[in-house]
Amino acid sequence: MKKIRVAVIGAGAAGLAALRQLSKYDVFQPVAYEIERQVGGTWIYKDLADDFDPTNINLLAGQSTTSSPPPPHCHSSMYQGLYTNIPKEIMAFPDLPFPQQLPSYPHHTDVLAYLRNYAHQFKLLQYIQFGTMVNSLSRQQIEDKSSWTLTYTDLDSKETTTTQFDAVIVCNGHYCKTSYPDIPDLDQFPGAVTHSHYYREPSIYKDKVVVLMGPGPSGTDIAIELIDTAKEIYLSCHKQPAANLPSKIVVKNTITKLHSNGFVQFEKDPQLVKADCVIFCTGYGYEFPFLTPSCNVTLENQQRRIRPLFMHIFHIDHPTLSFVGICAKIVPFGQFYLQASVVTSVLLNQTPLPSIDEMERDEENDYQDRLATGLQPRHAHFLGVRQWAYNDRLATFINVKNPMSKAIEKTYKYAMGWRQNNILEYRHQNYRIIDEDTFEHVNACKNSNQTSTN
Ligand SMILES: Cc1cc2nc3c(=O)[nH]c(=O)nc-3n(C[C@H](O)[C@H](O)[C@H](O)COP(=O)(O)OP(=O)(O)OC[C@H]3O[C@@H](n4cnc5c(N)ncnc54)[C@H](O)[C@@H]3O)c2cc1C
Repeated sequence: MKKIRVAVIGAGAAGLAALRQLSKYDVFQPVAYEIERQVGGTWIYKDLADDFDPTNINLLAGQSTTSSPPPPHCHSSMYQGLYTNIPKEIMAFPDLPFPQQLPSYPHHTDVLAYLRNYAHQFKLLQYIQFGTMVNSLSRQQIEDKSSWTLTYTDLDSKETTTTQFDAVIVCNGHYCKTSYPDIPDLDQFPGAVTHSHYYREPSIYKDKVVVLMGPGPSGTDIAIELIDTAKEIYLSCHKQPAANLPSKIVVKNTITKLHSNGFVQFEKDPQLVKADCVIFCTGYGYEFPFLTPSCNVTLENQQRRIRPLFMHIFHIDHPTLSFVGICAKIVPFGQFYLQASVVTSVLLNQTPLPSIDEMERDEENDYQDRLATGLQPRHAHFLGVRQWAYNDRLATFINVKNPMSKAIEKTYKYAMGWRQNNILEYRHQNYRIIDEDTFEHVNACKNSNQTSTN
């Protein structure tokens, strides 16, 4: 039987999910390409290069008029003190729990160990070519089918190889291409301007006045990490930040201007702050530097919308090109598992895709529905509360039971409530999934061994 050759680009959690599903069927011949020397992607902590000082370089070089060198390439945003922000009980892939002895919110090194173990346990390493970077992917039409030509470089030998595939699954992650707001005179600001992507540990901010922009998980967590180190901390927010922030963190409105004399101005606020450093915790855009025009993939809305995509997965015109791991504000691993199951089912011809017209309508309806409910154009792949219906849809589409159970959804909502209301305490809580519909909050706070069932 002729094998179906499938390329997987990236061996982070999404790439592993893809390999796990493909490896269940003999008909597939998967090959994954991975720049790093190990699996894990984002969860591989990396120190910044010794000669790179994030407080002494203008990270906007290249986008602005300054002549400072651009920052070095670095895939991971992991910092030394990072613990997960969702409980391990719901974060795990459906087919492998995290080790029981870990607390509900493990350290990032535990997540990397978990992903390594996942690859090992399901014998996925045999498919991965480590130390290889995909440089280009192009499409040829052969009769009624697309065929994919992939070129990669072996980072040791520097040798470049070109090879053919029947299908390609893109799993290259989307927490790498830093995104900055459009703030007047950003390049005139004399202080340090950096991005949360380059944050590693607090000591370089000792005795500094730091303004962080963005009240998301990174902005909030880094602000809290700086408490004992920085002189003053300001958190600039476009929406309500988490409640009960330590009093040293002064909440401000969004930044409207950075002045050449070092002052930071905030919306509707007469009080300016003289800052040493501004850390933009303002998220990331998508990037696919290897996709050539023949792939016909476009990035819209400040690189936050990938088109044309059906269900945030399939290229509508050339569905043998698919993406796993595109959605944001989700419980990732379980969703990757489902998305990879959908891709596999379609490649096996077990599940037919709708017509191109229907897929285009679906994509547009999904987008318009977001705008109608107040989301921004840049939120094209943002799920949040929509993730549960989306996961249900994926499972129904391929006629399998949704592994992202009601208990997972309930735990997520409950744990997020804890995070929003008790930012300093939420990671001390422990959870247990009892059955598909029920979870237990085991209160781990000292002086209490109370257990509540939900
Ligand atoms: C700071 C931070 C904290 C987070 N905390 C949590 C959390 O607590 N819980 C949670 O569930 N999720 C968390 N996430 C989300 C996290 O990104 C996902 O859990 C998940 O790891 C994403 O996996 P991925 O495979 O999509 O991408 P990545 O992990 O980024 O993997 C992509 C891989 O593709 C490789 N690659 C890229 N381009 C190429 C190329 N051209 N050729 C070959 N290889 C390539 C990269 O080297 C990388 O290994 C966090 C993310 C960040 C940034």
